[in-house]
Amino acid sequence: MQIYVAGNIVVDETWSIGDLPQKGASIHGVKISQDIGGKGANQAIVIARCGLETKLIAAVGHDSNGQWLREKIAHEPVKLYPTEYYSPHSDSSIILNSSDGDNAIITTTAAADALTVEQMLPFLADVQKGDILLQQGNFSVEKTRLLFMWAKANGMKTVFNPSPVNPDFAQLWPLVDIAVVNQLEAELLQPAGVSSLVITQGAQGAWLITETERHFCSASPANAVDSTGAGDTFLAVLLASSLLRGVEPDALALQHASQAAAITVSRTGTVNAFPNQQELAALLATRSE
Ligand code: ATP
Repeated sequence: MQIYVAGNIVVDETWSIGDLPQKGASIHGVKISQDIGGKGANQAIVIARCGLETKLIAAVGHDSNGQWLREKIAHEPVKLYPTEYYSPHSDSSIILNSSDGDNAIITTTAAADALTVEQMLPFLADVQKGDILLQQGNFSVEKTRLLFMWAKANGMKTVFNPSPVNPDFAQLWPLVDIAVVNQLEAELLQPAGVSSLVITQGAQGAWLITETERHFCSASPANAVDSTGAGDTFLAVLLASSLLRGVEPDALALQHASQAAAITVSRTGTVNAFPNQQELAALLATRSE
């Protein structure tokens, strides 16, 4: 069983500033961290750390950030494709954290946009029936649709996390088996017809809705300092927990996901905040609800 994640990989730069700048302003700030980010990379890394064979199909640019991303991800158990460069610049996010706890994020998508479906398909050539295709909301609706259509035609199971949200993603539900959305995405996109629907509700917890059950799991208690990547950790561990046991997402998978996300919110950074392989192995070994 292989997991294919088609999405983005970015350099996340977190800056601490006094207040969010006004138009035309020039302000001072302090760069407090640089980390691998991007929902595609985040989810692929956590799934791979859970012990599942994972390929990340995400474009990296021909620049120093691209070099840095490749060096960093080489320490992770995930395989990154393509191995060559597809864009002059890698994608990056500037995360501005103001002293009153507010934030603003600027993200580029040029590298992710540069990689076409035709260029991605060779990396899916070894797909077998039952393998997973996981996508997020960083591609256009058309590119996301074409990849899901290809996946269904080739016997894959499809998982969609439509974030960042786009109202037109609502057309894609017939191609999706497992949907993971937050409350806002659920209200805007009204997921329907999927076999498993997970709705995350931040510090409150998450719902799992299937044809036969509705189950709520409260968020695990955490000393929350930075919620970046909580949703990515949650999705990745939910999926890994169920796949490793050979079952559809269930109450135990929801519990594992919530425990892992609580670790992520208790640390600063993106990938640096995610639970490591030992933590995930210990957590996934717990069987009682
Ligand atoms: P993001 O985009 O910020 O990664 P999201 O909007 O996709 O997040 P959320 O619903 O905010 O996802 O959070 C996902 C899960 O993370 C929640 O269901 C919960 O289990 C966990 N979580 C989030 N915030 C907290 C918190 N403050 N304390 C404990 N767990 C949390």
